[in-house]
Amino acid sequence: NELICGKEIQPNIIEYSPENREKIFAEINASPLKEGNNIVGCIAILRNITQHKLLEESLRESEEKYRNLVEYMLEGIAVARDVPIRLVYANTTLANMVGYTVEELLSFSPENLMKLIHPDDRGLFFQRYEARLRGEEVPSRYEFRAIRKDGSVIWAKISSSQIIYKGKPAIQASFIDITEQKKSEKELQLMKFSIEHSEDSVFWIDSSANIIYVNNTACRSLGYSRDELLSMKIYDIDLNYTEEKWKEKWENLKKNRTITVESLHRTRNGKIFPVEVLFNYLKVDDKEYNFAFVRDITERKKSEEELRASEQLYRSLFEDIADPILIFDQETYRFLDCNKSAIKRYGYTREEFLNMAPHNLHPSEELKIVEKNIDDQETILPHRYTHITKYGEKFPVEIHTQEIMYKGKKAWISIIRDITERIKAEEEKRKLQEQLFYAQKMESIGRLAGGIAHDFNNILTSVMGYAELLKMEFPDTTTSEGKAVDVILRGTERAANLTKQLLGFARGGKYNPVPININDVIRDVVSMSEKIFEKNIDVNYEFEQKVKTIEADRTQMEQVLTNLIINAKDAMPLGGTLTFRTENIYIDKEYSNKYPEFKTGNYVKISVSDTGIGMTEEVKKHIFEPFFTTKGLAKGTGLGLATVYGIIKNHNGYINVYSEAGKGTTFNIYLPASTKIAVRKEKNEKIFRGSGTILLIDDEEDVRNVAVKQLESLGYKVITASDGIKAIDIYARNRNNIDLILLDMIMPGMSGIKTYLNLKKINPDVKVLIISGFSQNGRATELLEKGATGFIQKPFNLYRLSEIIYKTLKE
Ligand code: ADP
Ligand code: MG
Repeated sequence: NELICGKEIQPNIIEYSPENREKIFAEINASPLKEGNNIVGCIAILRNITQHKLLEESLRESEEKYRNLVEYMLEGIAVARDVPIRLVYANTTLANMVGYTVEELLSFSPENLMKLIHPDDRGLFFQRYEARLRGEEVPSRYEFRAIRKDGSVIWAKISSSQIIYKGKPAIQASFIDITEQKKSEKELQLMKFSIEHSEDSVFWIDSSANIIYVNNTACRSLGYSRDELLSMKIYDIDLNYTEEKWKEKWENLKKNRTITVESLHRTRNGKIFPVEVLFNYLKVDDKEYNFAFVRDITERKKSEEELRASEQLYRSLFEDIADPILIFDQETYRFLDCNKSAIKRYGYTREEFLNMAPHNLHPSEELKIVEKNIDDQETILPHRYTHITKYGEKFPVEIHTQEIMYKGKKAWISIIRDITERIKAEEEKRKLQEQLFYAQKMESIGRLAGGIAHDFNNILTSVMGYAELLKMEFPDTTTSEGKAVDVILRGTERAANLTKQLLGFARGGKYNPVPININDVIRDVVSMSEKIFEKNIDVNYEFEQKVKTIEADRTQMEQVLTNLIINAKDAMPLGGTLTFRTENIYIDKEYSNKYPEFKTGNYVKISVSDTGIGMTEEVKKHIFEPFFTTKGLAKGTGLGLATVYGIIKNHNGYINVYSEAGKGTTFNIYLPASTKIAVRKEKNEKIFRGSGTILLIDDEEDVRNVAVKQLESLGYKVITASDGIKAIDIYARNRNNIDLILLDMIMPGMSGIKTYLNLKKINPDVKVLIISGFSQNGRATELLEKGATGFIQKPFNLYRLSEIIYKTLKE
């Protein structure tokens, strides 16, 4: 009213008591509110000074009522005056705040009072105290640290003002302990710091998709400044969302509270990268927020990608490898997986496999072994088994099994190798080795037989020679001498035959190859040996009409056929059929690769088959060895097939046999074909007599003596020499008187070859016949090639000897 009446009113203190509230004191500062010149109201500013008022009051009046009120107020209250400071009042709350009693505080010296303030804040605190005391304007509210009696530090908020105390200016201050508040402020700061620096980007988003907070990481990873991001919407950077979709998401979030999704974010530069977003819905004071924690998963995606790629690699390895692979459960033994090769090889579909177990792949007869091996836990070792396909085809396999983890289960993985080819190759290798071994065995037997035959022949030559001379003296077989000589002669003939066969086997016998037609030879031999056939043996010919010529020693071929015929006859005691087949064949590369003993080329194949008793495998292994016989010592010699073998080898041919016990036997002989024209055989049983001088060179006296007698009986004059050197000397002095030289191949000292070359030096046209019981084939051939005129096999057959000498001298 005063104001409205135009009176100036001074700021004053009023007591004010709004309805239903306790009484407060207020300081009022009012001024009139004018409209033109009229005062229409007033503006009043009220400040609540209840506290100060009460304190002043209590101080002034010491009234118990106020004092108590002040003592136990929530705020600490103090009144101080003077410089240095002196405390004139402190309430209990303040004392409690710093851990002292009121009495202690009031008795503190200025130094002790100063120590109540934290050193860092002390300067400021007392500076302001003194300034305010002087009446200067300084901030009345601020925070500082105080030190409690126990040494701990508290934060306090001070609010102070100047008052007049006992006529002097003093400072009245109130204190609030804000230590707890400070602590949570600190915690908040830490939290903010950790959010700012978290590895994940953090976004707060409101319901309209506005970004209202982002952390440092978000700014960094997106390349935007904070301000830029705060003016954007979440779907500006998250490609998963449009305005529409975000609304949906929001509703969804409200229901589910948290959701994790994968999405793509776009940076300021337009780069797009994969992220994982964890959305959290939060409602604070009726406002809805969404916290999004965003993690860059580029690296994770990359390693996932790599993992997938390597899985793909292994999958394709697994699928495309040539060997079948099967995986089966360790518990149920069911198949869990199979590769393409398994499907192809076994014929089962993938689905069929998944309903099967490993034992379904074994033929029933093998299951016992398989089970035993599994029980023995030998599954780890590679095993050879037989497997059977869906269609019943069986094949040998080698299985490698190993433990693996398959989709979280313990499983076995079996790699299966089809070893059909390997077994075949092993078999072939074994056969080849056997063949090689056989050839080596025959070779050494041959050398042994040859060695014996050679020495034996020399002995025989002299026995036979003398016996023949004796025969000339005692031709009458009725006399006892004549009979004896006959027996000797027959014996030596048989012995000579034997050695001849042995030599034939040993390939020592030099053969005289002539182009012959093997069909003719077979017919001749069969007609000559008709007497050995019983009536009950039929002879069949299946001849190649235009059979190719072979170059062979006719006599030896006759021998081969005779031996085979005799064996066939022995094998068919109850009769049967004997079949001779001839055939022109060509051995090609493929065949000779398979049977390396065969060289490629044209051959004549000669087969001799009988329908006799046949032979066992065991017999077959030994038939070509000399002295192997199943016929008993009285009947068999065991030399028949040995001779055949030797002769055929010596002709660069091959022989093999097909036979089964009880089913007959077939011998196949392959001889190289020739392009020469075959010549027919002529008979000769005539002794050719001649004249002239012969130089006989042989180191063995017995051989020399008998040869001299034989040659003289044929009409020749003979000079002998016991070694090469003597022979050369004789020939050098008598070359014009000597018409022919017989030269032994093997002699101690100067060899046959050397002697021959020296003789040839004296007379290039010298006629030399080589004689040998055991001609090392190569050397004889070498000599014949060097110009020697011919070859005579020991022991001498008088007919042959006479013929060859006669013909040589006539040339
Ligand atoms: P031998 O006839 O003196 O026994 P061979 O060398 O001619 O000696 O034959 C050796 C062995 O080979 C014979 O004892 C016989 O067991 C077997 N053999 C040879 N030819 C035949 C055949 N055609 N049928 C059955 N077995 C045969
Ligand atoms: Mg025989």
